[in-house]
Amino acid sequence: MTQDELFKILVAHCKEYGFIFPSSEIYDGLAAVYDYGQMGVELKNNIKRYWWEAMTRLNENVVGIDSCVFMHPKTWVASGHVSAFNDPLIDNKDSKKRYRADNLIEDFLGKIEEKIAKEVAKGRKKFGDAFDEAQFLATNPNVLREKAKYDEVHSRYLAAENANDLKAYRDIIIDCGIVCPISGTANWTEVRQFNLMFSTQGSTTGNADDVLYLRPETAQGIFVEYLNVQKTGRMKIPFGIAQIGKAFRNEIVARQFIFRMKEFEQMEMEFFCRPGTEMEWFASWKENRMKWHVNLGMGAENYRFHDHEKLAHYANAATDIEFNFPFGFKELEGIHSRTDFDLGNHQKLSGKKIQYFDPETGESYVPYCVETSIGVDRMFLAVLSHSYKVEELPGGDSRVVLGIPAPLAPVKVAILPLVKKDGLPEKAREVLDVLKYDFKCQYDEKDSIGKRYRRQDAIGTPFCVTIDNDTMTDGCVTVRDRDTMEQTRVAISELRAIIDSKVNMSNLLRNL
Ligand code: ATP
Repeated sequence: MTQDELFKILVAHCKEYGFIFPSSEIYDGLAAVYDYGQMGVELKNNIKRYWWEAMTRLNENVVGIDSCVFMHPKTWVASGHVSAFNDPLIDNKDSKKRYRADNLIEDFLGKIEEKIAKEVAKGRKKFGDAFDEAQFLATNPNVLREKAKYDEVHSRYLAAENANDLKAYRDIIIDCGIVCPISGTANWTEVRQFNLMFSTQGSTTGNADDVLYLRPETAQGIFVEYLNVQKTGRMKIPFGIAQIGKAFRNEIVARQFIFRMKEFEQMEMEFFCRPGTEMEWFASWKENRMKWHVNLGMGAENYRFHDHEKLAHYANAATDIEFNFPFGFKELEGIHSRTDFDLGNHQKLSGKKIQYFDPETGESYVPYCVETSIGVDRMFLAVLSHSYKVEELPGGDSRVVLGIPAPLAPVKVAILPLVKKDGLPEKAREVLDVLKYDFKCQYDEKDSIGKRYRRQDAIGTPFCVTIDNDTMTDGCVTVRDRDTMEQTRVAISELRAIIDSKVNMSNLLRNL
């Protein structure tokens, strides 16, 4: 499925069932800005809870904070964002559409990789069991031709990136015949640098010319609070500070639903350690974070690490955890070894000593830092796009079901009286009163039971509990499982434990 096709389906589904709405839709919306609806906010909160508790409960030495969007403007000078948080942008003069020059080249390289993969698939089909992939890759003329093209463009691209050479980006685009997907032409403008930070006017420092930035990452809030947390929490290195909060970036490409938004949420953790130990922590957090993802049960094969070839100005090692979205593997989370870049620069610019006295070595130093940074919204898209399924049912019927990992599901259980009479609604509300303190429940008595099941499938509710006439005498209800559609008769007194065994967040955390 192409990205556009998938987004069309997901956007429609998200809107129909109250997950995500385009922002200010009555005014025709605002590009790359979305609101979460009544279902979306529940799923989003559950994702955040899973992350927050994994970070701050399972790691004794990780604590959380909640810092502000607005920060002293010097913060962004120290962090390097004022001078270096730029994207190279290019416009197509015919379609008037704007692109990131680096993304156009990366997509071009991705297409070459796809061609090579197709050749390999063909070879495998032709040669069957005798197929030797390594030999095929080293000798097949079509593969060699594509590989040579890839290597040539890739090395030019790396050189352009490293030298920040805007003309070189454009030359690659022209030489490779990359065209605008809308107009189909190569009528490109020059490449320009574009700073991604939003700014507004403020006078926090008493200077009327002050620019206030909307933070493009939450991490800096952690760095500027490092001393306060370390001192008041009597934290000993190594330790981490976690934070969930909004970030803002003036993204050029606004056609990627919630994958790339102008206002989004990040879950970031900065782990402070002794200089020289950062690579061990980098490796350990890579493993920790991958485990967190795989633990959700969305398939270990759907995640991979992608090490950065070009390191950001602050990093000495960096990798992405990529997820296999239906439109290909894309970055879901970044893990960076940020050295002492941030604390060191804040120390310089603020004139305040930001150092740790290490009682074990008897030395004082600016701590090194390993960061894990994941977008809540991107995680939401990973869960949603992986969960969305259209299933054919016996009898020619079909259903749309969201197979969301049960502990993350917005509603855990639906309480459904079979009919709206004979005391069934009252009995159903009694069941609701038993369950509502532990689980997010939804009561629904409208329409046929089949329609109600479909509605719950479409929002990913793991359990439907039906109250029928027999319930009044035998105290049992029918429990329907979202994934298997199996129905079992159980006593009301057993319900809590049955539901809990599948949706309990603590169990999910216990497996980590
Ligand atoms: P990309 O290369 O996709 O622009 P990035 O490398 O700039 O991402 P980071 O600065 O490492 O991203 O941010 C950490 C995480 O924040 C990303 O892995 C992603 O999950 C999320 N994120 C970044 N930008 C956005 C955005 N515009 N919308 C939604 N999530 C985002």
